[in-house]
Amino acid sequence: MEETKKLNFLEEIIENDLKEGKVDSIMTRFPPEPNGYLHLGHAKSICLNFGLAQKYGGKTNLRYDDTNPVKEDVEYVDSIKEDIKWLGFQWDKELYASDYFDQLYQWAEDLIKRGLAYVDDQTQEEIRAGRGTVDTPGTESPYRNRSVEENLKLFREMRDGKYADGEKVLRAKIDMAHPNMMFRDPLLYRIKHASHHRTGDKWCIYPMYDYTHGQCDSIEHITHSICTLEFDVHRPLYDWFIQTLGIYPSHQYEFARLNLTYTLMSKRKLLELVQKGIVSGWDDPRMPTLCGVRRRGYTAEALKMFCDKIGVSKRDQLMDIQLLEWCVRQDLNARSNRYMVVQDPVKVTITNWPAGQVEWFDCPLNPAEPEGASRKVPFTGELYIDKADFMEDAPKKFFRLKPDGEVRLKYTYIIKCNEVIKDENGEVVELKCTYDPTTRPGGDPEQWRSVKGTIHWVSVEHAKELELRNYDRLFTLADMSQVPEDKDYKDFLNPDSLILGKGWAEPALLEDKSGIAVQFERTGYYFLDKDSTPEHPIFNKTVALKDSYKPE
Ligand code: ATP
Ligand code: MG
Repeated sequence: MEETKKLNFLEEIIENDLKEGKVDSIMTRFPPEPNGYLHLGHAKSICLNFGLAQKYGGKTNLRYDDTNPVKEDVEYVDSIKEDIKWLGFQWDKELYASDYFDQLYQWAEDLIKRGLAYVDDQTQEEIRAGRGTVDTPGTESPYRNRSVEENLKLFREMRDGKYADGEKVLRAKIDMAHPNMMFRDPLLYRIKHASHHRTGDKWCIYPMYDYTHGQCDSIEHITHSICTLEFDVHRPLYDWFIQTLGIYPSHQYEFARLNLTYTLMSKRKLLELVQKGIVSGWDDPRMPTLCGVRRRGYTAEALKMFCDKIGVSKRDQLMDIQLLEWCVRQDLNARSNRYMVVQDPVKVTITNWPAGQVEWFDCPLNPAEPEGASRKVPFTGELYIDKADFMEDAPKKFFRLKPDGEVRLKYTYIIKCNEVIKDENGEVVELKCTYDPTTRPGGDPEQWRSVKGTIHWVSVEHAKELELRNYDRLFTLADMSQVPEDKDYKDFLNPDSLILGKGWAEPALLEDKSGIAVQFERTGYYFLDKDSTPEHPIFNKTVALKDSYKPE
């Protein structure tokens, strides 16, 4: 039977709108403010906006919400495009709220002329105090009843740069006692003498979010404007501007933002981590930014799988980061190439191996495709294995190497440990072993025998030294929205979020061309870092190989 996935509430709305002919086709938009790098939360919004349009044969605009020149930058504009493309989506048009500054200004004059907007001279504090509270109505500004002519004159003077920042604002004239505080004469424009990354010094007044977003949606004929839940109180105002201006009726729908355990997703705080040098940059592999997780080795496919699994909800919830890690593991397990890397080496000498002989083994790059591409792995008389794969006083159930015990070296022979060499401190420094030539895979099936344990290894002579950056969670608190009042989120930084290590790899690793993270057999997934050089390869730990976590 074919499995039919239940529609989410946005799909239901869209299917209904299409069925009833409310819209002919779907138009969505992704509206980032270019004031930081995109993070995992944005990935959810991108997957939704682009995914819905794709599913219903519609289009998605990329629209930068660039109404605050002080915090915005082209660096962010560029990174946002790169991240969306990396996720595998293509926008229809690249647009900017600032493209509409002239139109928005015109509409503001229209509102003034209709007696629906006025210039207010009150200070920010006075305006805030005048708005009242949820239980008490606000008080009207002493400037509220200026004439249309005076308002027009003052607003044009604001535009022409006659006033300093904060001296005046333009407000809508709605209702200072409205039960929805958003309607208590909301701000439409503020003065900011700042250069804008696109409009330069053309403007010194900038429109507010509420006055901008709906109108931009309307200009672009966005049918379904999807945003996060905290905007639901803004929706009536969104509708009010569109209705009052009599323009194309875009509609806003809210969904729950993505929150993840052990993760912070506020751009303001992420910026602080970068500026204070707590992380190495926006693309530090511990950051929840898309460039950060990409550098760590997370794949776009895994992120999309995750967004698909968590679905869309109308209630805020905290998702388990382990689900995301599980998705990364699923994707990499299916696609990544395998290599052997020893991280904590102890030397194994094969005493019966002909001196100087090298045997090259053909090993599959991915065991799921044994007939697929392979790599060549050199076997010699001097090998490294991981210290943890040897135990001197081993319990019965220890199936790796022990004195007088046997183990298979992955893809190759069974070896037996005959002698343990220690230094003056009693540390094991060398294991003298013999190999059994009859145990070569692909040899005489009559002679075939197996042992319980298989371990990874590398040839000392051929081993390539690696720097390993083993990453863990950046924070120690599961729910970062629960930072106590008397504490700061930075009090919950994980001191072990980066542990430097070393590795000795089979030579084929450095020839890998897959472009995605690789599996270090039996340990984890690692991704080549951009700081690597051929002389000094660096690998970032993407995720551990195994975890007891299972999604519901
Ligand atoms: P932040 O609070 O991290 O700065 P923001 O909402 O201010 O985020 P924007 O650039 O304005 O960031 O967001 C662009 C789009 O991405 C918006 O539609 C916003 O609702 C959505 N978005 C932002 N954060 C999340 C999140 N955690 N989960 C889902 N969608 C998000
Ligand atoms: Mg925002």
